[in-house]
Amino acid sequence: MGSSNFFDFWKKLCPFIVTAKPMTDLCWTCQLNNTLIFRSANLDEENKCERVKQQENHLFIVQQERSLYNKMVGNAKRACQENVITELCQNSPCSRNIMMHYSFDYAQQVHLPSNPLQPGPIYFLVPRKYGLFGVCCEGIPRQVNFLVDEAHLISKGSNAVISYLHYFLNNYGTGETDAHFHCDNCSGQKKNRFVLWYFAWRVAVGLHKSVSLNFLIAGHTKFAPDWCFGLLKRAFKRNLVPAQSVLETVVNESSSVNIAQVVGYEDGTTVVPVSDWQAFFKNSCKPLPGIKKYQHFRFDDAHPGSVFVKEHSESAETEFNILMSDSSFPRGAPDVLAPPGLPLQRQQYLYKSIRKYVDEPFKDTVCPNPDVMPNVEQDETVIITETRKDSDGHERVKRGRGKGSQRGQTGGGRRGCGRGHSRGRGQGENNGV
Ligand SMILES: [Zn+2]
Repeated sequence: MGSSNFFDFWKKLCPFIVTAKPMTDLCWTCQLNNTLIFRSANLDEENKCERVKQQENHLFIVQQERSLYNKMVGNAKRACQENVITELCQNSPCSRNIMMHYSFDYAQQVHLPSNPLQPGPIYFLVPRKYGLFGVCCEGIPRQVNFLVDEAHLISKGSNAVISYLHYFLNNYGTGETDAHFHCDNCSGQKKNRFVLWYFAWRVAVGLHKSVSLNFLIAGHTKFAPDWCFGLLKRAFKRNLVPAQSVLETVVNESSSVNIAQVVGYEDGTTVVPVSDWQAFFKNSCKPLPGIKKYQHFRFDDAHPGSVFVKEHSESAETEFNILMSDSSFPRGAPDVLAPPGLPLQRQQYLYKSIRKYVDEPFKDTVCPNPDVMPNVEQDETVIITETRKDSDGHERVKRGRGKGSQRGQTGGGRRGCGRGHSRGRGQGENNGV
């Protein structure tokens, strides 16, 4: 029986057996509350009421946050229409007296070379990794996708996030006076003191009049970048992608919303510099106590050095000073960090195990011959293990799971794709790509 017949019969005969939906939207609070409600069948009315109310409150807050996001996106769309902004291009800071909204997020990294008809053996290997970071301007809409080659992946999350945002605002920003940002609730990379200091600094030095940074509730984080990444990944899975230059074209052609921005080339050339923003602010700014419990942060030029925080969109605002006493924001610019490059062992691994899967013209770009080759003969599996040992524990987990999700992508047709993608997204958030 062919697969289409099989699915027809399945639908006809067993309509009650369905494929699980992608799991990105699972919220821990929702799950806990729903389990409690489910288990309260034998409890008294008062207890039941209490539990239902708990979940109702949670969903009410979720809905409030969602409508705030929708409202900001709606306003941004109107601003773009009124000012005839149809493409992202370079604009001077505060050159337009408008409000704009941006969303940013990491996606699951991709591996190159990538072949829709994946040859069997590469399934067990770790090809060259490319991180994806997207900043979406929903008003137009357009999303700039930063492609981060493995040799340019800097593990310190917030330096990279701030540098990419800074580059985006300098080169693609609409020149708005007031900017709103949304992102998912990933405290490691996005909700941290450095990102707050960066936005406070932007406002204090006149790059914006006001900025707000808003976090979606964990488990309820579907927003524009997911949509753009989805279009990008769909194109990625349909094309033969041997190297970053091809990935760039695939991203640009995936949809009119997507724009590719290379962070650096395989040979080490940098396009988007990553700077040491952490060190830049370290001696003049201080951390915000209890940062994790707040979802909304606001900065305005009438109160330089202050951050106004809220737990939810409708709760009361509190002001904090994030400048150290007798201190002011640093002048000049942060130091640029050199791209880390690939460890020799990783270069050797790519050369020995991956190069054979790369199309001829790209072999020397993606898997060049490292100057020194090891003199030991090992099988491929051993080399993978060594590569894992080579990096820190965090990296190791990432690489292991990266392989797993790749399996999801290629393993089982459409269904496999969806799940692989969704699981991978969560993973990208957790480990900082
Ligand atoms: Zn929930």
